[in-house]
Amino acid sequence: MEKKEYCYNCDEDTEYIIEKEIINLELEGVKFSYEALVPYCVKCKKEVSIPEINDLNIIRAYKAHKEALDKS
Ligand SMILES: [Zn+2]
Repeated sequence: MEKKEYCYNCDEDTEYIIEKEIINLELEGVKFSYEALVPYCVKCKKEVSIPEINDLNIIRAYKAHKEALDKS
């Protein structure tokens, strides 16, 4: 399946790859981290913005924050 998304830097639809990155955050005095999915354009290697993936990351961050809160 070909994955293409609009890249602002290239100004065209390009293929992208998804990298996993550990994001460390502090929210309401609680430190936590989560594994974010970050799509990168294969042409310019810059991050591209994909709403569906942003939504997934928000859910992951929310869950990680909740787990950290439960442990504290
Ligand atoms: Zn690009």
